[in-house]
Amino acid sequence: MISKNQIIEIEITGMTSEGNGVGHAQGMAVFVPCTAIGDKLEVKIVKVLKSYAYGIIEKILISSPDRTQSDCPVSQKCGGCMFRHITYEAELKIKSGFISDAFKRIGGFDLEYESIAGCEETDFYRNKAQYPVAMQDSKAVCGFYSRRSHRVVPFTACRLQPPVFAQIVDYVIDYINEHHIPAYDEQTHKGLIRHIYLRKGFHTGEIMLCIVAADKKAVKYVREMVSSTDILEKFGDIKCIIVNVNPDNTNVILGRKNFQIYGSENITDVMCGNKIMLSPMSFYQVNTCQAEKLYSIAAGFAELSGNEKILDLYCGTGTIGLSMHDKVKCLTGVEVINQAVENAKINAQINGIENAEFICGDAGTIADKMAAQGEKPDVIIVDPPRKGCDGNTIEAILKMSPCKIVMISCNPATAARDCRMICESGEYEIRKIRGVDLFARTGHVESVVLMSRKGK
Ligand code: SAH
Repeated sequence: MISKNQIIEIEITGMTSEGNGVGHAQGMAVFVPCTAIGDKLEVKIVKVLKSYAYGIIEKILISSPDRTQSDCPVSQKCGGCMFRHITYEAELKIKSGFISDAFKRIGGFDLEYESIAGCEETDFYRNKAQYPVAMQDSKAVCGFYSRRSHRVVPFTACRLQPPVFAQIVDYVIDYINEHHIPAYDEQTHKGLIRHIYLRKGFHTGEIMLCIVAADKKAVKYVREMVSSTDILEKFGDIKCIIVNVNPDNTNVILGRKNFQIYGSENITDVMCGNKIMLSPMSFYQVNTCQAEKLYSIAAGFAELSGNEKILDLYCGTGTIGLSMHDKVKCLTGVEVINQAVENAKINAQINGIENAEFICGDAGTIADKMAAQGEKPDVIIVDPPRKGCDGNTIEAILKMSPCKIVMISCNPATAARDCRMICESGEYEIRKIRGVDLFARTGHVESVVLMSRKGK
């Protein structure tokens, strides 16, 4: 029996989706962070549970050929990059495994997988960052949460973000400290500044600076910062500055109220050739280049002829449907966040797209209504959040019985579960499946699945 503080020798043979390497000893699975498949290690056991244990590296006996030197000084502490210590090639192999394992284990599928579409650029690819702010040694600091905690690792030069983000964040933090504006404290709920949230249009370069604060008092401070400093001259791409007020004791970053301090409430980017307006609340894929690849793979799977009616469930700002507008007869998007729907409608308008409509509401409820009204879309695209589709959404999809269902998902486990539910109806089968890496160096991976009606 393994016990705490014991030192054992193991070989890492697999990787979990949290980025922990896994090996086996004395009939138990042992999870060890910052390891690579093929490592032979001396591991110190730090926690023992019923059938598994956690350990940390004591000594690397034989280093895996997948290992590479991490190019980030905080990658071992920060919760962002799980795979900065292995090659990107090895990372893609592991991510393909996450997808095939989930579809086999949870979905019960035996499939042929198309090769995962990796990133050409594995650094600086993100278009959005939300930096937590905290007080440390009486100073406001900004950075990232350490693994599985809310302790801020002070570090802004993250290699996943455009370098200008760190410059803006450092500028704002210096201002906050010079003017003794307090950071918010999650434990005591005192203080003011919670997050610095940045968005950058990948193709346009337009930047949104949003300061998330616990109280409206921040509006005055941010106004003063804008009028008394050279922030706008120094960072000419900043097109809007917003204070978002979130007074709640919650892990959710954004509150409901926005105060416009400078410019408009939106920035514009271009996605698949369409102009896309983005408000702070709207979902927008964080890796624009790879999202364009993802949408074009989804369009390829749908094999559109120009005559189809498509339904885009969980449509966000409408990016997927709009990217296919010229290949279909008409499209309907459904999304629960009102601001995103407003963005989607404007996005159709500013691009002169007349065959698109967008409905605000819960995907399941709206799809159910459409099914009851006898709507028969030819293709349904679903791109749900991590928790996947609700059962009523799947039921409504089945009632509408489209020829094709294209499922896009950022969580292989819920995608496999939802595809299983769809295929268990006996009406559909999976025809194609492909991974797309939108989140290089992190533990996340996207997948696209084509399900078609049997016999078609
Ligand atoms: N297809 C979009 C967005 C995908 S993210 C894109 O590629 O950009 C998932 C989206 O589902 C988010 O915009 C989220 O606000 C929305 N959403 C979450 N729960 C929902 C629900 N119950 N009904 C409709 N939309 C929902």
